[in-house]
Amino acid sequence: MTPFELAEPKSLSAAVKLLDPDDTSIRPIAGGTALMLMMKAGVFRPAKLISLRNIEAKYSGIAADANGLRLGAMTTLSALEHSADVRKLAPLITRTMLTLSNVRVRNVATVGGALAHGDPHMDLPPVLMALGATLTVVSPSGERSIPLDDFFTGYYETVLEKNELIAEAHIPAQGTKRAAYMKVTTGSADDWPALGVAVVIEADGKAIESARVVVSAATTKATRLKSAETVLNGKTADDKLLAQAGDAAVEEAEFIADVRGSVPYKRELLRVYIKRAVQQALAGGVQ
Ligand SMILES: Cc1cc2nc3c(=O)[nH]c(=O)nc-3n(C[C@H](O)[C@H](O)[C@H](O)COP(=O)(O)OP(=O)(O)OC[C@H]3O[C@@H](n4cnc5c(N)ncnc54)[C@H](O)[C@@H]3O)c2cc1C
Repeated sequence: MTPFELAEPKSLSAAVKLLDPDDTSIRPIAGGTALMLMMKAGVFRPAKLISLRNIEAKYSGIAADANGLRLGAMTTLSALEHSADVRKLAPLITRTMLTLSNVRVRNVATVGGALAHGDPHMDLPPVLMALGATLTVVSPSGERSIPLDDFFTGYYETVLEKNELIAEAHIPAQGTKRAAYMKVTTGSADDWPALGVAVVIEADGKAIESARVVVSAATTKATRLKSAETVLNGKTADDKLLAQAGDAAVEEAEFIADVRGSVPYKRELLRVYIKRAVQQALAGGVQ
């Protein structure tokens, strides 16, 4: 690794001021689990890292009210996993954590890092997108709110400017909605997936009022599949409808081939797993 400077500001506003919109060699670092791998591999050689470790404690915490959750960007994934508020208001997140990597990674990886990295294989982006999350992002010129639906722009790409930081994520309470996240791994259960599908459904029995359907890993970015949602909304779930939703999803998604599977394989996975995820959610899934 080449030498680099490390800054450890005490506040988010100070951290933002240390970033440079025109200099990609200056980067924020949170848990470091993704960034350090890139540095060790020589893919990224920073001149300066801005550590977020010492910023205000509120950005490492979880706040809850009847409307939902506020997750500080520096909240660790293990804090999410063990939070009673998360289990009560968004149990889909709690369950997802169990197969997200391993306890060593979850202990240091953060919510902000998991989202800002823009890796389409990660588990948290599709789950938070299906739950309808919104991010608060800060820059020297102020703050803006970004629906997670609009956050990812491509393979490892997001709408974040180089001098913007994620401050927090807001997650609406799951309430009576039923939900499921299914990931298909070609190795162990906690391996990187070939496909991720998250669904959050408002339904009366099998009568679907509204559905949010998100695909990841098989695609260049976590993506809402609105055509599949349109097929499902206002209909009763049966085999024919779920097959139609699978067909619509496959037409809409932009697939990528990688070591975990070819495009035709991933298309078939999506077709099958849309059906299974909706069935799992309607059968109780995670409530
Ligand atoms: C062995 C291993 C196995 C893994 N398995 C899985 C898995 O099964 N599922 C899964 O989902 N993930 C998995 N991961 C990935 C892991 O979830 C990510 O590495 C982690 O979430 C990144 O968070 P971090 O805090 O460590 O980010 P960092 O490495 O610190 O940063 C990642 C990126 O985000 C930027 N960044 C960080 N915080 C902010 C912020 N607040 N605002 C703006 N930009 C920011 C950094 O500049 C960097 O570009 C695995 C990782 C490892 C090492």
